[in-house]
Amino acid sequence: MAKRAIEPGLLRLPDGEGRELRLCANRCDGCGVVFHPPRPVCLACHGRAMSDAPLEGAGTLYAFTRVAMAMRPGMRTERGYWVAHVDLDGGPRVQGLLAPDVAEPRIGMRLRLGIETVRVEESGEEIVVHHFAADEARA
Ligand SMILES: [Zn+2]
Repeated sequence: MAKRAIEPGLLRLPDGEGRELRLCANRCDGCGVVFHPPRPVCLACHGRAMSDAPLEGAGTLYAFTRVAMAMRPGMRTERGYWVAHVDLDGGPRVQGLLAPDVAEPRIGMRLRLGIETVRVEESGEEIVVHHFAADEARA
């Protein structure tokens, strides 16, 4: 079934034809700072010339916290969930959920980008959000 990101401009979903999952981001043409999600104006130099710079999703856990309330309707709340800041290998630091199978987060643990379905529309379309799962191969 078709999938759609919970908000436009957050994720570039795989298309099944070789296009891989990426976080949407842009880079300031003036100073090089990268933003996820993309911004129309650079926070560092106030430049308005920005170029797409989709991000690959391997990184290291920088910080995390437990959340007991849903950020948006339809998100998992049964036992709360972890929200993390992750230092991507190629930068920058981004925010995302930790995957449900990350039972005990550890600062410095290796993570990889994934998606999870937060609700299914009446049409059958799956609404997805990105998360970071433990990357056991690179722990
Ligand atoms: Zn800039």
